[in-house]
Amino acid sequence: MRSLILTALACTWLLSSPIHASPRSVILIVGDGFDDTHVTMGRNYLAGQSGSLLLDELSVRGAVQVETIDSEGNPLYVADSANTATSLATGAVTQIGRVGKDGNNTVVPTVLEAAAADGYKTGIVSTASVTDATPAAFAAHVAVRACESPMTIHGGKKYGVTFDGCPEDLVENGGLGSIAEQLATSQVDVILGGGEEHFTPQYGSQPSARTLATVAGVTFLSDAADLRGSHPGRVIGLFSEDTMPVKWRGSEGRTAESMKRSWLNHIYDMIGSVTQPEIIRCEANPEFAGMPSLEAMTRYAIDHLSRDNDKGFFLTIESASIDKRAHERDPCGSIGEIEQLEASLKVALVYAQEHPNTLIIVTADHGQAAQIVPDPTLYKYLPIPVYSPGKVARVATPEGGVMRINYATNNIDSEEHTGVNVPLFANAEGRTVLKPFMHQRDIYQAMMRYLELER
Ligand SMILES: [Zn+2]
Repeated sequence: MRSLILTALACTWLLSSPIHASPRSVILIVGDGFDDTHVTMGRNYLAGQSGSLLLDELSVRGAVQVETIDSEGNPLYVADSANTATSLATGAVTQIGRVGKDGNNTVVPTVLEAAAADGYKTGIVSTASVTDATPAAFAAHVAVRACESPMTIHGGKKYGVTFDGCPEDLVENGGLGSIAEQLATSQVDVILGGGEEHFTPQYGSQPSARTLATVAGVTFLSDAADLRGSHPGRVIGLFSEDTMPVKWRGSEGRTAESMKRSWLNHIYDMIGSVTQPEIIRCEANPEFAGMPSLEAMTRYAIDHLSRDNDKGFFLTIESASIDKRAHERDPCGSIGEIEQLEASLKVALVYAQEHPNTLIIVTADHGQAAQIVPDPTLYKYLPIPVYSPGKVARVATPEGGVMRINYATNNIDSEEHTGVNVPLFANAEGRTVLKPFMHQRDIYQAMMRYLELER
C-alpha cells in the first residue's frame, strides 16, 4: 500500500512539474562584424594588451566558417548580415540580402519561431533598427533585406542602391508582409532597439500596412526610462528612428584618414614625404545621450522573459555597430559597441549564474575591414616613404599605446566585409552542443538541440 501511495505521488509530481527542473534558455549574442581583429581591438583598448575581456573568460571557444551562395547556388566567400543571420537563425545557407528565406526564396522556420511554438518565451534586442537584417532574420522572412517597412517593400533606395522591393512578400500577393509588419504581428514577447521610422503610422495608408498602430495587445516603449519599469504581455521598444547612435566616437568626430602626401610624392611615390594622421582619442558620442544602453535593454529583456516562466526562453542580442562603424572607418565607434557587448554579456552571465541551464553563445555574422597594423611601419628604416594606400586611424589607448587601424578594402565611402571565419565563445553549457570548428548553420542545430526542439 505504501509503495502504491508513493508511486501515485511520484506520478502526480511528474505530471504537474515542468519538463526541466529549472528553466532552459539560450542567449545568443551576435557582434555584427565582430571578427578576431575587432575582438583584439576591443581587448587592446578596453582591457589592455595584457588584459582580458569578459568574453575571454568563457570556457568554450571555437571558429565558425561562414557560408554564402549566389543565385546559381555557387559559393561566395564574403557574406552580408542577412544571409549569415539567416544561417544562424534557420540553418539555411542562402544568398546575400535574404532574410529568413533560403536560396530558392522559400520561407524557412527559425529557432526563435520553433522555441515560441514549443512554449518558450522569445526576445530580440539590437542596437540597429530591429528591422535590420540580423535581428529580423530570427522572426521575419523577406526576399530582400531592404523590405523593412510597408513603404520600402514596394522598392526604394538603401545604402545608395536602388532595389525593386519584394512583390512576392506583399500580403496582397500571399506573402507575410514587410519586416516591420511581420515583427509587429509576430509572437515575439519582447523586441527592443531602434527603427521607429519603419513602424510609424504614416505607413498606415499603404495597402499592406499592419503597423504598431493597428496591433492590439502590444506595449510600445520609446524612452530609455521606460526600461526601468515592467510591462505585461508583448513589448516593443523603439528608441531611435533607425540605427541607435553609438556610445563612443573619435575625438571631434574624426575617423580614419588618408596620408597627407607631399607634392613630390604625388609625382613619384618613392620620393617626397608623407604626414601621418594625428592621433585620435575615443570620447563619448553626444548623440548617444538619452539612449538606453545595450546593457539596459538586455536586463529588461531577460527580466521580461524570465518572469513567471518555468519553461525558459530564446533571446538574441545584437551589437550592431561594430560593423556599421567599421564601414565608416570609425574604430572608436566600433570599440564603444564592443564595450556595450561586454556589458550585455555580463548581464547574461549573472542570469546564467542563477539559472544553470542557460546556454550563452557569443559570435559574429561575418568579418569586417579593419586591420591592426604597426605604428610606426616595420619598414621605417627604408629610404622611401612607406604608407598604407587605404585610410588609417591612430587610436590612443588608455594604457598609453597607439593602436593603428587600417581600412583599405575599397576606394568608396563604405568599407567591405571580409571572408574570414568568425569567432565563437560560449559558457560551459556549450560543451554539450558546440564543437571547436563549426559552420554557421551548425550553431542553429546546436541551439535547437539545446532547447530540445525538433525541426
Ligand atoms: Zn556590414
